[in-house]
Amino acid sequence: MNDKHKIDILGGGPAGLSVGYFARKKGYDICIYEGSSAVGGNCRTIKMGEYRFDTGAHRFHDKIPSITEEVKKLMGNELLKVNTPSKIYFGGRMIDFPLTFSSVMKNLKLSEILKIIAENLFNIFKINAGHKNFEELAYAKYGPTLSNLFLINYTEKLWGARANELQTTISGNRLKNLNIYSMMIEMIMKNSKVKHLEGSFYYPKYGYGTIFDSIAKQINYENISLNSKVKKIFHDGKKIKEIVLENGKTIEVKYIVNTLPINSTIKMLDPLPNKNLIERADNLKFRNLKICLLELDFPKLSNNASIYFPDEHIAITRIYEPKNRSPLMAPRDKTSLAIEIPYSQGDSISILNDDEVIDMVKRTLIKEKFFKDSDVLDNRLIDIKNAYPILKVGEEGNIRELVSFLQSFSNQKLIGRNVEFDYLHTHKIMDKAKLLVNTLNF
Ligand SMILES: Cc1cc2nc3c(=O)[nH]c(=O)nc-3n(C[C@H](O)[C@H](O)[C@H](O)COP(=O)(O)OP(=O)(O)OC[C@H]3O[C@@H](n4cnc5c(N)ncnc54)[C@H](O)[C@@H]3O)c2cc1C
Repeated sequence: MNDKHKIDILGGGPAGLSVGYFARKKGYDICIYEGSSAVGGNCRTIKMGEYRFDTGAHRFHDKIPSITEEVKKLMGNELLKVNTPSKIYFGGRMIDFPLTFSSVMKNLKLSEILKIIAENLFNIFKINAGHKNFEELAYAKYGPTLSNLFLINYTEKLWGARANELQTTISGNRLKNLNIYSMMIEMIMKNSKVKHLEGSFYYPKYGYGTIFDSIAKQINYENISLNSKVKKIFHDGKKIKEIVLENGKTIEVKYIVNTLPINSTIKMLDPLPNKNLIERADNLKFRNLKICLLELDFPKLSNNASIYFPDEHIAITRIYEPKNRSPLMAPRDKTSLAIEIPYSQGDSISILNDDEVIDMVKRTLIKEKFFKDSDVLDNRLIDIKNAYPILKVGEEGNIRELVSFLQSFSNQKLIGRNVEFDYLHTHKIMDKAKLLVNTLNF
């Protein structure tokens, strides 16, 4: 390979791997530096005996045909098309997610239903002038009562911030095409399902992470340097010159693609940028996630892809049962659950040790009658740092400024959830990676 085309890629998550994959296809020589001992970032599948767990409730959304085709080619017959509903756990009952009218009617009090209808009739007469924050968006789509019951509390628990402080983009297109009228249409025309992100998706037989394991194999592990945490990025104000790894190795670089968190990237730069940019970077925060993995001694808990917990008194936000994505994720006569608990540094969850979190999760779900203590065969806790960029209203300018500063280095490109500080899904990241490689002027 011609050294002129050598690209050093920082981070071996979906973004770094996708760039590596498309770059290799175009004949570029690459090296990926991954800080941990495995590729895949937040999209890994962990094996525990006969059980497999994803590091978060992942599914592949069929949104960009060319990318779906690419993943189909990569995974062959290992890629399953899954049609599985999700539910909201609410006061001991299961409500359809996305919300349906019949489910709401069945599970709410008459006084609440009347209030919801009145609020939404009132909404018709409101001029829709764009929504400044997530709370406004939710109220416009469903009215305050329905939103407060199921959306606002869930959102605030997930992101650790008030719904009126969060950008509308945190819904991640989940509410696209959904509102009180789509609920009515679905009820009246039972077959005409409104198109949305939930319910139908692709999923690999042996777990979501195998998409990125396959990509890594195509790239060839010889081009991936594991346990290579980037510690310093040296530059001359115009170009990135060298990266230094935690193990002391220094690598001279010609062209880099950076997928690392934007706030830590700013602080790795040598020389450091001005104080103002460092303060802006310090303001950007990520939400972390603890995931409690349980192996259970019965064949199935439910048929749902995910179960959402909006109740603010329960620390859990979501449960998924891997078997409902692929039957090969657990033995036939057993099942498993992955239970997500978001947290931020310094809060009441962050100070608990692994056993305390597992114990809290087990106590909660035993009390809610999901299973008995004697059903639990084994458990483990995993910690996902930088799971979600917390997109607060008013920070759009900070993000733009930091991104454009990093883009001002002529031999550096940025891509991914962490460095773009954007709520990106993997199909979108893969599409961006393809485009980035196709338009490389290195
Ligand atoms: C709970 C959860 C559920 C999700 N569900 C879905 C879903 O259903 N569908 C979907 O498409 N997407 C989903 N996502 C989003 C998806 O996980 C992200 O889009 C994707 O992981 C982002 O890829 P990335 O490469 O940008 O970042 P990451 O996955 O965070 O990867 C970054 C990589 O960089 C490495 N790194 C960090 N710092 C350094 C350093 N200093 N030096 C070297 N390496 C470093 C990390 O170890 C990591 O491997 C979900 C995310 C979460 C958290």
